[in-house]
Amino acid sequence: MSNQKKPVLRRCVGCGEMKDKKDLIRVVRTQEGEILPDKTGRVNGRGAYVCKDPECFMNAVRKKGLERSLKCRVDAQVYEGLRSYFEGESS
Ligand SMILES: [Zn+2]
Repeated sequence: MSNQKKPVLRRCVGCGEMKDKKDLIRVVRTQEGEILPDKTGRVNGRGAYVCKDPECFMNAVRKKGLERSLKCRVDAQVYEGLRSYFEGESS
């Protein structure tokens, strides 16, 4: 018995591990078809979670985990933009 709040767990599409949602970045595909990092956690659309780690992000790119989760093709320039976001978040 404990009153501790359980962390909300989500699976990272890079390493496949379950992580606390606050240690992950949600990448979202909006209804307009844009793919962007969800900085607020409130963007509507289909989301995928990746650790705040560029390594994990690159893994997700290589394994096409993002494309699988978002159910769409991701352009190289979109990946590039996301990667700089991950690099900024992890430093
Ligand atoms: Zn990960």
